[in-house]
Order: sequence, then C-alpha cells, then structure tokens
Amino acid sequence: MSLIYNRVALIGLGLIASSMAHAMRRDKTVGEITGTARSAETREIAREVGICDQVMDTAVEAVADADLVVLAVPVGAMEAVAREIGPHLKPGATVTDVGSVKRAVIDAVAPHIPDNVHFIPGHPLAGTEHSGPRSGFAELFENRWCILSPEDHTNAEALDRLTRLWKAMGANVNTMEIDHHDLVLAVTSHCPHLIAYTMVGVADDLGRITDSEVINYSAAGFRDFTRIAASDPTMWRDVFMNNKEATLEILGRFTEELFALQRAIRQGDEQHLFDYFTRTRAIRRGIIEAGQDTDAPNFGRGNTR
Ligand code: NAP
Repeated sequence: MSLIYNRVALIGLGLIASSMAHAMRRDKTVGEITGTARSAETREIAREVGICDQVMDTAVEAVADADLVVLAVPVGAMEAVAREIGPHLKPGATVTDVGSVKRAVIDAVAPHIPDNVHFIPGHPLAGTEHSGPRSGFAELFENRWCILSPEDHTNAEALDRLTRLWKAMGANVNTMEIDHHDLVLAVTSHCPHLIAYTMVGVADDLGRITDSEVINYSAAGFRDFTRIAASDPTMWRDVFMNNKEATLEILGRFTEELFALQRAIRQGDEQHLFDYFTRTRAIRRGIIEAGQDTDAPNFGRGNTR
C-alpha cells in the first residue's frame, strides 16, 4: 500500500493505539510511528512489544514533526493532553482522537488546537474487553465502522487522508454529526455496557449466597454480560461522565420498557412478551445480514461452557 502519512504520533498506547500501530506497520501506510503513554511501565512494555519505532517519555516529544497525531487516551484525559501538545504541533498536521464520546471531547480538545492544524474527531467502533499495550492486534478494525465528525470547514484533503488511513486499516468510514453520534452510541454501546455492569453486580450480590452457582451456571446469557462487564473501569467511568445527557435519555426509555415487561410478566400477558421478543429477534438478523456478527450458534465459540 502507498504511504499516507510520513510520521504518526500515538498519544496513549492501549488497545486502540496499539491495534492501529500493528495495522499501519502491516500495511506500510506510514513512514514512522512515535508514541507515548502516561506511565513509565506502559512505555516500557510498548518498547518491549515494539509497537512504535520510537516510544518517547513525553507527549511533546512524541508529536514533534508528526503529520498525524492520534489522541488515544481515556475521554477524561483528552483535555490535559491537548493542552500539553497544542503549542508543539506541526503546522498543517492533523489531530484526531478515538474517544467513545464526541461532544465532550471536541469541547475539551478544540480550544487547544492551533488554527493551522486540522482537527478531525473520530471514533472506531471496535474494541474488546482487554486494554493496555499488549492487547492490540492488526485486525481489530476489519469490517468495523469508523465514524469521523468533520465540520463544514474541515480541510477536504486532510479528511481524505485520514479516511484513507482508516480504510487501509480495514474499517468502513462514515461521517456523523456530533450529538447524533453520542445518542446512537448511548443506544448501541454505552447503555448496554451499563446494563451488563448492573447485571453482573446483581449476580455478585447474589453470589454471596449461592457462590458456586453463579460461576458454574454462567453459560448462556450471563457469560456474555461478564465479558462486557470486564471492560476497562477508567474508560467506562469517563464515558458516562462525558455522555450524561444521551445515556440518561436512553436509560429513561430503557427503564420504562423494563417496567412494561415486568408488568406483562406479573399479569401473565403472554402476547406482550411474545410480540416484544419477536421484534427484537429481527434486530439480531439485521446485524448478521450487515456482516457485523456471526450467525454461528453461541457467537461461533463452539459448545464450550
Ligand atoms: P487503554 O487500553 O486503557 O489505554 C489507554 C492509554 O491511555 C494507556 O496507554 C494509558 O497509559 C494512557 N493514559 C491514560 N490516562 C492518561 C493520561 N491522563 N495522560 C496520558 N495518557 C493516559 O484504552 P483504549 O481501550 O485503547 O481506549 C483509548 C480511547 O479509545 C478511549 O478514549 C476510549 O473511549 C476509546 N475507545 C475504546 C474502545 C474499546 O473498546 N476499548 C473502542 C473505541 C474507542 P497508562 O497505561 O500509562 O496509564
């Protein structure tokens, strides 16, 4: 593949940044990758794993002469990083982020980006429950969506280059208005995570009574909740602290529906339950048809417990 950027700087070296680095190196789409992380420990692991060509001790050193800077830190850390690197960005460079929330990140980052630097917010809809510099892999973005949120005045060439990079990493790219992004993600990702956290918390409380049962019989639905609820606590705390409005809106609707289902169970309203479950089953079919999951039973895991 042809070169898209001469030099890319990754700020934060966790799941998303290390996956990007592996993909960019695989495809030789960038000349050089520099990176940094908050702790000396993570920087040391990143050097050991060989994620970047150079791991710097500070973000200021990492962004020197970079054509693309990727902010891949938890949402709550974006502002401090942008403030630190702002004065050191190369004129004409592009800054993007991969944060799971867009409105709060843009409000935090944009004021620190100089006029001669392009800021194009982004969000790859790809992840796992693992985090840290060892968790990345080049295929993470394969056939997943990456949402970019440019403004009307965003430089077309800069947008085209960033789009080409995400496509080279295997992603499908779409643009989306900021607040719409935050609402859509509240439905598809943020609230489902909160519900999984809650369900696992409830089972944990019960577990004090029937400890082994919760663990032994965790196949079926509960095991999938535990996978989601194993996601990084810092990242998810920051998501909810920074997407309050949309998540509260969706949780309000969720609670209403839950009460309606609760009432149907209590009143023996079989039809309500049947109709509801028929409707939701069709959504799963739509996801499979869109190539976003496998039709194999048990998510293709085989018949393991
Ligand atoms: P991660 O694996 O937990 O890595 C986070 C990285 O950020 C680490 O290198 C960490 O360094 C660094 N960091 C943390 N706090 C920092 C601070 N205050 N200043 C500088 N660096 C700091 O996270 P991730 O899963 O890659 O997520 C990164 C971003 O992508 C987040 O904004 C998240 O919302 C978004 N995202 C995540 C997923 C997902 O499923 N994981 C999917 C899409 C988007 P240390 O290790 O030294 O603390």
